[in-house]
Amino acid sequence: MTFNRRFRIVATVLLGLFLGNGVARAQTVVRPGFNLFSVQQDIDIGRQSSVQVEKQFPMVSRPAVTQYVARLGARLARYAPGSKYPYQFKVVNLSDINAFALPGGYVYIHRGLIERAKTEGELAGVMAHEISHVALRHQTNQVSKAYLAETGVGILGGLFGSKSQSTAGSIMGTVGGLGLNALFLKNSRSAEEQADIVGAQIMAKAGYDPMDMARFFDTLVWNYVLEGHVPAEDIQRLLKERPDIVGIGVPGMPIGSPGMEIAGMKPSAYDVLAFDKTGKTRVFASHGR
Ligand SMILES: [Zn+2]
Repeated sequence: MTFNRRFRIVATVLLGLFLGNGVARAQTVVRPGFNLFSVQQDIDIGRQSSVQVEKQFPMVSRPAVTQYVARLGARLARYAPGSKYPYQFKVVNLSDINAFALPGGYVYIHRGLIERAKTEGELAGVMAHEISHVALRHQTNQVSKAYLAETGVGILGGLFGSKSQSTAGSIMGTVGGLGLNALFLKNSRSAEEQADIVGAQIMAKAGYDPMDMARFFDTLVWNYVLEGHVPAEDIQRLLKERPDIVGIGVPGMPIGSPGMEIAGMKPSAYDVLAFDKTGKTRVFASHGR
Protein backbone atom coordinates (compact mmCIF):
# COMPACT_ATOMS: atom_id res chain seq x y z
CA MET A 1 0.00 0.00 0.00
CA THR A 2 1.48 3.33 -0.99
CA PHE A 3 1.88 6.25 1.33
CA ASN A 4 -0.72 8.28 -0.59
CA ARG A 5 -3.28 5.55 -0.28
CA ARG A 6 -2.65 5.14 3.47
CA PHE A 7 -2.56 8.91 3.89
CA ARG A 8 -5.98 9.25 2.25
CA ILE A 9 -7.45 6.49 4.42
CA VAL A 10 -6.17 8.09 7.62
CA ALA A 11 -7.28 11.55 6.49
CA THR A 12 -10.82 10.27 5.90
CA VAL A 13 -10.86 8.74 9.37
CA LEU A 14 -9.80 12.08 10.87
CA LEU A 15 -12.54 13.92 8.98
CA GLY A 16 -15.14 11.61 10.46
CA LEU A 17 -13.69 11.62 13.97
CA PHE A 18 -12.96 15.26 14.56
CA LEU A 19 -14.99 17.26 12.11
CA GLY A 20 -18.15 15.22 12.46
CA ASN A 21 -18.26 14.86 8.69
CA GLY A 22 -21.13 12.39 8.19
CA VAL A 23 -20.00 11.10 4.80
CA ALA A 24 -16.47 10.50 6.05
CA ARG A 25 -17.82 8.81 9.15
CA ALA A 26 -20.03 6.49 7.11
CA GLN A 27 -17.03 5.54 4.94
CA THR A 28 -15.03 4.57 7.98
CA VAL A 29 -17.49 2.34 9.83
CA VAL A 30 -15.96 -1.13 9.58
CA ARG A 31 -17.49 -4.30 10.99
CA PRO A 32 -16.26 -7.90 11.08
CA GLY A 33 -17.26 -9.93 8.03
CA PHE A 34 -18.80 -13.37 7.58
CA ASN A 35 -17.53 -15.85 10.17
CA LEU A 36 -18.33 -19.47 11.03
CA PHE A 37 -16.47 -19.33 14.34
CA SER A 38 -17.60 -18.07 17.71
CA VAL A 39 -15.61 -15.40 19.52
CA GLN A 40 -14.54 -18.03 22.06
CA GLN A 41 -13.29 -20.25 19.23
CA ASP A 42 -11.16 -17.36 17.94
CA ILE A 43 -9.58 -17.21 21.39
CA ASP A 44 -9.08 -20.98 21.60
CA ILE A 45 -7.48 -21.20 18.14
CA GLY A 46 -5.25 -18.22 18.90
CA ARG A 47 -4.12 -19.67 22.21
CA GLN A 48 -3.22 -23.02 20.63
CA SER A 49 -1.33 -21.30 17.83
CA SER A 50 0.46 -19.00 20.26
CA VAL A 51 1.91 -21.99 22.11
CA GLN A 52 3.41 -23.24 18.83
CA VAL A 53 4.65 -19.78 17.87
CA GLU A 54 6.40 -19.22 21.19
CA LYS A 55 8.05 -22.64 21.00
CA GLN A 56 9.43 -21.83 17.57
CA PHE A 57 10.42 -18.17 17.94
CA PRO A 58 13.16 -16.83 20.17
CA MET A 59 11.20 -14.56 22.51
CA VAL A 60 12.40 -11.42 24.25
CA SER A 61 12.03 -11.85 28.02
CA ARG A 62 13.75 -8.69 29.30
CA PRO A 63 11.09 -7.11 31.58
CA ALA A 64 11.95 -3.55 30.50
CA VAL A 65 10.96 -4.45 26.93
CA THR A 66 8.09 -6.86 27.55
CA GLN A 67 6.41 -4.60 30.10
CA TYR A 68 6.74 -1.53 27.90
CA VAL A 69 5.17 -3.29 24.91
CA ALA A 70 2.44 -4.85 27.06
CA ARG A 71 1.56 -1.44 28.52
CA LEU A 72 1.51 0.24 25.13
CA GLY A 73 -0.63 -2.58 23.72
CA ALA A 74 -3.10 -2.40 26.60
CA ARG A 75 -3.43 1.36 26.14
CA LEU A 76 -4.42 0.81 22.50
CA ALA A 77 -6.51 -2.36 22.92
CA ARG A 78 -8.84 -0.52 25.29
CA TYR A 79 -10.20 1.23 22.20
CA ALA A 80 -10.51 -1.84 19.97
CA PRO A 81 -14.07 -2.14 18.64
CA GLY A 82 -16.24 -5.25 18.81
CA SER A 83 -15.85 -8.23 21.11
CA LYS A 84 -13.41 -7.95 23.99
CA TYR A 85 -10.45 -10.23 23.42
CA PRO A 86 -7.76 -11.04 26.00
CA TYR A 87 -5.11 -9.07 24.08
CA GLN A 88 -1.48 -10.03 24.66
CA PHE A 89 1.56 -8.34 23.17
CA LYS A 90 4.90 -10.09 22.92
CA VAL A 91 8.25 -9.39 21.33
CA VAL A 92 9.99 -11.88 19.05
CA ASN A 93 13.77 -11.69 19.34
CA LEU A 94 14.49 -11.38 15.62
CA SER A 95 16.04 -8.42 13.84
CA ASP A 96 13.76 -8.39 10.81
CA ILE A 97 10.92 -5.91 10.52
CA ASN A 98 7.80 -7.86 11.10
CA ALA A 99 4.57 -8.00 13.04
CA PHE A 100 1.64 -10.37 13.03
CA ALA A 101 -1.49 -11.26 14.96
CA LEU A 102 -3.17 -14.56 15.73
CA PRO A 103 -6.94 -14.82 16.23
CA GLY A 104 -8.23 -13.96 19.68
CA GLY A 105 -5.76 -11.20 20.52
CA TYR A 106 -2.24 -12.63 20.34
CA VAL A 107 -0.07 -9.90 18.82
CA TYR A 108 3.64 -10.35 18.05
CA ILE A 109 6.15 -7.60 17.25
CA HIS A 110 9.64 -8.42 16.06
CA ARG A 111 12.54 -6.70 17.82
CA GLY A 112 13.75 -5.25 14.50
CA LEU A 113 10.52 -3.32 14.11
CA ILE A 114 10.83 -1.76 17.56
CA GLU A 115 14.44 -0.80 16.83
CA ARG A 116 13.40 0.87 13.58
CA ALA A 117 10.55 2.93 15.04
CA LYS A 118 11.61 6.56 15.53
CA THR A 119 8.77 7.44 17.91
CA GLU A 120 6.36 5.61 20.19
CA GLY A 121 3.58 6.70 17.84
CA GLU A 122 5.16 4.80 14.95
CA LEU A 123 5.31 1.60 17.00
CA ALA A 124 1.77 2.23 18.27
CA GLY A 125 0.62 2.53 14.65
CA VAL A 126 1.80 -0.98 13.77
CA MET A 127 0.30 -2.39 16.96
CA ALA A 128 -3.04 -0.64 16.32
CA HIS A 129 -3.05 -2.12 12.81
CA GLU A 130 -2.49 -5.64 14.21
CA ILE A 131 -5.12 -5.14 16.94
CA SER A 132 -7.56 -4.22 14.18
CA HIS A 133 -6.96 -7.51 12.33
CA VAL A 134 -7.95 -9.28 15.58
CA ALA A 135 -10.96 -7.06 16.33
CA LEU A 136 -12.24 -7.46 12.76
CA ARG A 137 -11.61 -11.21 12.97
CA HIS A 138 -9.79 -11.24 9.65
CA GLN A 139 -8.02 -14.54 10.32
CA THR A 140 -11.08 -16.68 11.00
CA ASN A 141 -13.00 -14.75 8.35
CA GLN A 142 -10.41 -16.02 5.85
CA VAL A 143 -10.72 -19.58 7.15
CA SER A 144 -14.50 -19.34 6.94
CA LYS A 145 -14.29 -18.25 3.32
CA ALA A 146 -11.79 -21.02 2.54
CA TYR A 147 -14.13 -23.52 4.19
CA LEU A 148 -17.06 -22.35 2.11
CA ALA A 149 -15.02 -22.57 -1.06
CA GLU A 150 -14.04 -26.13 -0.17
CA THR A 151 -17.39 -27.52 0.93
CA GLY A 152 -19.97 -25.48 -0.90
CA VAL A 153 -23.00 -24.05 0.77
CA GLY A 154 -24.92 -27.27 1.35
CA ILE A 155 -23.25 -28.13 4.60
CA LEU A 156 -23.96 -24.77 6.18
CA GLY A 157 -27.38 -25.68 7.56
CA GLY A 158 -25.80 -28.24 9.83
CA LEU A 159 -23.04 -25.89 10.88
CA PHE A 160 -25.28 -23.06 11.85
CA GLY A 161 -27.53 -25.53 13.66
CA SER A 162 -24.92 -26.40 16.26
CA LYS A 163 -22.24 -24.03 17.45
CA SER A 164 -20.58 -26.84 19.35
CA GLN A 165 -16.90 -27.21 20.14
CA SER A 166 -16.58 -29.88 17.49
CA THR A 167 -17.62 -27.37 14.84
CA ALA A 168 -14.28 -25.61 15.05
CA GLY A 169 -12.58 -28.99 14.86
CA SER A 170 -14.49 -30.06 11.79
CA ILE A 171 -13.93 -26.72 10.08
CA MET A 172 -10.22 -26.91 10.80
CA GLY A 173 -10.18 -30.52 9.58
CA THR A 174 -11.71 -29.51 6.28
CA VAL A 175 -9.61 -26.41 5.89
CA GLY A 176 -6.60 -28.59 6.64
CA GLY A 177 -7.16 -30.03 3.20
CA LEU A 178 -6.24 -26.63 1.84
CA GLY A 179 -3.09 -26.55 3.95
CA LEU A 180 -3.06 -25.75 7.65
CA ASN A 181 -1.81 -22.30 6.84
CA ALA A 182 -5.22 -21.43 5.41
CA LEU A 183 -5.77 -20.21 8.96
CA PHE A 184 -3.15 -17.57 8.38
CA LEU A 185 -3.94 -16.63 4.81
CA LYS A 186 -2.58 -13.25 3.95
CA ASN A 187 -5.27 -10.77 4.67
CA SER A 188 -6.86 -9.51 1.50
CA ARG A 189 -6.13 -5.98 0.37
CA SER A 190 -9.49 -4.80 1.60
CA ALA A 191 -8.70 -6.35 4.98
CA GLU A 192 -5.49 -4.29 5.04
CA GLU A 193 -7.45 -1.13 4.30
CA GLN A 194 -9.92 -2.02 7.04
CA ALA A 195 -7.07 -2.56 9.50
CA ASP A 196 -5.69 0.87 8.58
CA ILE A 197 -9.08 2.54 9.07
CA VAL A 198 -9.77 0.95 12.45
CA GLY A 199 -6.10 1.29 13.44
CA ALA A 200 -6.26 5.04 12.80
CA GLN A 201 -9.42 5.29 14.91
CA ILE A 202 -7.75 3.41 17.77
CA MET A 203 -4.67 5.66 17.51
CA ALA A 204 -6.76 8.83 17.72
CA LYS A 205 -8.79 7.59 20.68
CA ALA A 206 -5.64 6.54 22.54
CA GLY A 207 -4.15 10.00 22.05
CA TYR A 208 -1.63 9.28 19.25
CA ASP A 209 -1.30 10.97 15.90
CA PRO A 210 -2.91 8.51 13.44
CA MET A 211 -0.60 9.83 10.72
CA ASP A 212 2.28 8.08 12.51
CA MET A 213 0.79 4.82 11.25
CA ALA A 214 0.86 5.94 7.63
CA ARG A 215 4.35 7.37 8.08
CA PHE A 216 5.94 4.35 9.69
CA PHE A 217 4.69 1.65 7.35
CA ASP A 218 6.22 3.61 4.51
CA THR A 219 9.60 4.43 5.95
CA LEU A 220 10.49 0.81 6.58
CA VAL A 221 13.50 -0.57 4.74
CA TRP A 222 13.66 2.01 1.95
CA ASN A 223 9.91 2.02 1.60
CA TYR A 224 9.46 -1.71 1.71
CA VAL A 225 6.63 -2.83 3.93
CA LEU A 226 6.83 -6.17 5.64
CA GLU A 227 4.07 -7.96 7.43
CA GLY A 228 4.42 -11.69 7.57
CA HIS A 229 7.19 -14.22 7.54
CA VAL A 230 9.61 -13.30 4.81
CA PRO A 231 12.77 -15.45 4.70
CA ALA A 232 15.98 -13.54 5.40
CA GLU A 233 17.39 -14.51 2.00
CA ASP A 234 14.50 -12.74 0.27
CA ILE A 235 14.94 -9.63 2.40
CA GLN A 236 18.64 -9.62 1.46
CA ARG A 237 17.81 -9.97 -2.24
CA LEU A 238 15.20 -7.23 -1.96
CA LEU A 239 17.66 -4.82 -0.39
CA LYS A 240 20.27 -5.62 -3.04
CA GLU A 241 18.05 -5.44 -6.12
CA ARG A 242 15.67 -2.73 -4.92
CA PRO A 243 13.05 -3.50 -7.57
CA ASP A 244 10.22 -1.09 -8.25
CA ILE A 245 7.91 -2.34 -5.53
CA VAL A 246 6.53 -0.80 -2.37
CA GLY A 247 5.96 -3.85 -0.22
CA ILE A 248 6.80 -7.47 0.34
CA GLY A 249 5.01 -10.07 2.40
CA VAL A 250 4.36 -13.75 2.86
CA PRO A 251 0.79 -14.93 2.58
CA GLY A 252 0.17 -15.66 6.22
CA MET A 253 2.37 -17.84 8.35
CA PRO A 254 2.98 -20.97 6.30
CA ILE A 255 4.45 -23.96 8.06
CA GLY A 256 8.16 -24.01 7.26
CA SER A 257 8.49 -20.23 6.86
CA PRO A 258 10.82 -18.41 9.27
CA GLY A 259 9.65 -18.96 12.82
CA MET A 260 7.13 -21.55 11.70
CA GLU A 261 9.40 -24.56 11.37
CA ILE A 262 7.23 -26.86 13.42
CA ALA A 263 8.61 -30.28 14.31
CA GLY A 264 6.68 -33.15 12.79
CA MET A 265 4.83 -30.94 10.33
CA LYS A 266 5.54 -31.01 6.65
CA PRO A 267 6.59 -27.56 5.37
CA SER A 268 4.08 -26.16 2.93
CA ALA A 269 4.91 -24.50 -0.35
CA TYR A 270 4.47 -20.75 -0.23
CA ASP A 271 5.16 -17.58 -2.15
CA VAL A 272 6.69 -14.28 -1.11
CA LEU A 273 4.55 -11.59 -2.75
CA ALA A 274 5.69 -8.15 -3.85
CA PHE A 275 3.29 -5.21 -4.17
CA ASP A 276 3.78 -2.37 -6.63
CA LYS A 277 2.58 1.22 -6.36
CA THR A 278 -0.81 0.42 -7.84
CA GLY A 279 -1.41 -2.36 -5.33
CA LYS A 280 -0.81 -5.14 -7.87
CA THR A 281 0.99 -8.18 -6.51
CA ARG A 282 3.49 -10.52 -8.12
CA VAL A 283 5.45 -13.51 -6.87
CA PHE A 284 8.87 -12.36 -5.67
CA ALA A 285 10.11 -15.77 -4.54
CA SER A 286 8.75 -19.28 -4.09
CA HIS A 287 9.69 -21.77 -1.40
CA GLY A 288 9.15 -25.45 -0.81
CA ARG A 289 8.27 -26.35 -4.41
ZN1 LIG B 1 -2.09 -6.04 8.04
